[in-house]
Amino acid sequence: MSGDGGRDPLEGVDPEVLAWHWGALANDPAVCCVPQPGQDGYPCILNRAFHPEHRDVLGRTWPVRDEALYVAPARLLPGLDGTVTVPTLDHGPVTLSCPVWCRGHEAAPKARVDLGHESDDFLMLVPVPGGHATLMTAVFEQRPFTARPPGTGVFLNLEIDGQFHPLGPDGVAEIADTLSTVAVDLRVLSRRLARYIAEEAGR
Ligand SMILES: [Zn+2]
Ligand SMILES: [Zn+2]
Repeated sequence: MSGDGGRDPLEGVDPEVLAWHWGALANDPAVCCVPQPGQDGYPCILNRAFHPEHRDVLGRTWPVRDEALYVAPARLLPGLDGTVTVPTLDHGPVTLSCPVWCRGHEAAPKARVDLGHESDDFLMLVPVPGGHATLMTAVFEQRPFTARPPGTGVFLNLEIDGQFHPLGPDGVAEIADTLSTVAVDLRVLSRRLARYIAEEAGR
């Protein structure tokens, strides 16, 4: 067993509190998300209402400094009919028909060709000592006016190590298959490590 990695620090945490924690890690706009000094991966899990001190999933608190509570840029949300009218720099107001997964559009005008529907982020996290690391982030996207790849259809934009990879269903499935073999590799390494440690102890 390696140092403090033996036990999940989140074990036994109230599921509702845990949900806020995952929300904070995913930059959920309802959550404060301010990072905790010296504790990577343990942001503030309180909601965006003013609070005198930040609090993480484990109940640790730290003072609110002069950092203003982060305010998400205003978003235009689709109405009951599923449409939203957004300002553009080159075509005036443009009305879009949003897919159900669209999380709304920035209120700041941009070129029509740059308009796109985007879902919330899906973060794929793995536990590491002292918190969690993001393996990749996935977001559904559709760009109705683009003339460039990946075209005007729906795709999954997968961010890996700072690079975005637009993928169709087969591409996503291929990555999932590859991750299964990566998991097998990791289990082999885990068993080898355990053996090396045991051998070390027997010397
Ligand atoms: Zn906070
Ligand atoms: Zn939309």
